[in-house]
Amino acid sequence: MNEEFVFKYKNHNTLIKTYGEQFESNWWYITENKIPVDNKLLSIIIYADSTTCDHLGKTSEHPIYISLGNIPNWQRNKPNAKVLVGYLPKLKAKDNTTRNSESFRRLQRLVFQRCLRILLSPIMNQNDMYLVVQNKIHPFTPKLSVILADMAEAGAFTATYLPSTSKRPCYYCLINNKDLNNMALSHIDLRTPEKMKLAISENQASEFSIHKEFNYFWDFDDFNIYEATAPDRMHLLDLGVTKYLIEFTRELLHRKVSNRAVKDMDHRLCAIPRYPGLIILKNGLENISKFTANDYRNIMKVIIFVIDNLYDDYKEGGIPCKRLCNIFHKYLVMYMKLRQESFTDTELTELETLITEFCQEFVTIFAEYSPSRCKIPKLHVLRYHVIPSI
Ligand SMILES: [Zn+2]
Repeated sequence: MNEEFVFKYKNHNTLIKTYGEQFESNWWYITENKIPVDNKLLSIIIYADSTTCDHLGKTSEHPIYISLGNIPNWQRNKPNAKVLVGYLPKLKAKDNTTRNSESFRRLQRLVFQRCLRILLSPIMNQNDMYLVVQNKIHPFTPKLSVILADMAEAGAFTATYLPSTSKRPCYYCLINNKDLNNMALSHIDLRTPEKMKLAISENQASEFSIHKEFNYFWDFDDFNIYEATAPDRMHLLDLGVTKYLIEFTRELLHRKVSNRAVKDMDHRLCAIPRYPGLIILKNGLENISKFTANDYRNIMKVIIFVIDNLYDDYKEGGIPCKRLCNIFHKYLVMYMKLRQESFTDTELTELETLITEFCQEFVTIFAEYSPSRCKIPKLHVLRYHVIPSI
C-alpha cells in the first residue's frame, strides 16, 4: 500500500478529465489548495455497516472502518486496505415499549454522536499529522471525504428521518415526499449544515425531517455531511433497486398475468443449466427475503432468459412481455456501466441518460402495483445523487 500511495492531485496532464480515483476529483483539487502548502492531503473515508453475527440475525454489531482516498481504487477494494477502528456500542432496551419510545431513540442518537466525537476528534480540523510513507516522514492534513453507508446508516450519520413516509425522506436533499417518485425534476434543493442549523433554530426541524440534536459533523470545517454521505453499490443496487425490480415483477405477473407465470418464472430460474461461477437458486424466488447481494447478482445474470417469452396474454393494465424484458435490459446496461472504474465527461452524460431512462421506465411500469407507489428512497438516490457523487 505504501508503494502505491498517492500524495497529490492527479489530473493536470490529461486532455480529457476523468472521474475515477478520488485524487482525480474536483473535491481533491479544491481541498488541496486550502491546506498548508507543505502538507499533503490525507483523505479519510469512513465505512459503516451493521453486520449480523449469527444466522438468525439476532445479534449484530456496528463496526466503523476507515480507509484512505490516497490509496488507488484497485487496492482500496482489498480487505487489508480498510482498518477497523471500533464497534459502536448498541443500547439495549428492556422491552418493546422502551425500544419504540422517543426518549430511547433520542438516547441512541446521542450515543451515536458521542461515539463519533470520541473516534473522530483526533482528526477534526487538524493540520499536522506526521506519517511515514515510502520511508519518509510527511506532514499530512486529514480531511473527511466520504462516508459510505447503507440508507439506514446514512440516516444515522445525517440525523435525518429516512422512511419514505416522512416529509423529506432523503438524507442528501430536501425533496418533498410527494415528489419522491418523480424522476423528471430539473432542480433539487440540497441539504447543507447551515440550512439544517437554521431550520432547527427556527423550530422547523420536523418540517425538514431532521432530528433536533447537534450533529457532530457540523464542527468539521468545509464539510457537508449530507453531500459526503454515499450509499455503497451493494446496498443501493444489489440489495436495493435489484430487489425491488424482482419483487415488483413478481407482483406484476401475479396481478396482471397469471399465477402460472409466477410459477414458470421460479421454474425457469432453477432450470438454468449449471455453469462455473454461476449460483443456481434451487427454489427459485421462494426464499427471497433471505437472499444475499450475491444471490441477487446471480439472478440478474440470467434474468433476461427467465423473463423472455414468459407470457403472451395479459390482463388490462398489464404490459407486453417484451417491455418487461426491456426494463431488465436497461437496468443491466446501466449496472454494468456504473461498475466502470473511471469516467470521462461524455461517459458520465451517457450514464446519466441510462439511469434516467431506467428510473422513468421503472416508475411508469410499477407505480400501479407497488403499495408505496414507487416512492423508494433508493430509486430517488440512484436517479439524483449517484452522478454528482462520482
Ligand atoms: Zn435526495
